[in-house]
Amino acid sequence: LKMSKDEIQTLRERKRVKLHEIKDSTLPEIAIVGRSNVGKSTMLNTLTESPNTARVSSKPGLTRQLNFYRCGDKFVVVDMPGYGFAFAKEADKEAWKELIEDYLGTRKSLKRIYVMIDARHGLKVADKEFLTMMGSTSSKKFQVVLTKCDLVSPPDLARTYMVVQEELKKSFKNAMTDRVLMVSSYTGAGMNTLRKDMLFACGQ
Ligand code: GDP
Repeated sequence: LKMSKDEIQTLRERKRVKLHEIKDSTLPEIAIVGRSNVGKSTMLNTLTESPNTARVSSKPGLTRQLNFYRCGDKFVVVDMPGYGFAFAKEADKEAWKELIEDYLGTRKSLKRIYVMIDARHGLKVADKEFLTMMGSTSSKKFQVVLTKCDLVSPPDLARTYMVVQEELKKSFKNAMTDRVLMVSSYTGAGMNTLRKDMLFACGQ
């Protein structure tokens, strides 16, 4: 799958928009989600290389709302709040359940969900809780992306890849299991493959 300069440029022209501005939009959307501190905001900034940056949080779990970024006229990236279920209050879980039901479960223009997982840890309890909740409410496909791969040695990364892929195959029917994507926002590794995957998911 080759990507033209124009298509790459599309991703660099990210523009933040409000939900009502795209409510009736026919543009395809992809959603990005992950545990707080997984490196989601940094990844989003690297992905789009835009000066209109997503907020990088020093404290986890602060962002509660959805942020929409239009990538040129091709598609919209939806930045979801970070989750942290293992030690969360019931109210937090309820809020997430609603968000999944209202947005992830029903949004017609949503083409794929990208779930960020820290390459150092693989699927943690909080991730499994989230994926289970998502699977019981939404039938949308999700793609796992391992983040911060620069912090892991190649053999450890290969092992985590296999373990995560097996866990997804075994327990999560909506997971895309052909491959697990791997990125580092610091080195840029894997970022072009991720961009291509997103464009492909949106039918571009
Ligand atoms: P978020 O809460 O998921 O949005 O996470 P942030 O993007 O705020 O990142 C959390 C922390 O991880 C920050 O200190 C980042 O500098 C660091 N970080 C993010 N991406 C990478 C990466 O690719 N490699 C390394 N080594 N650190 C990263």
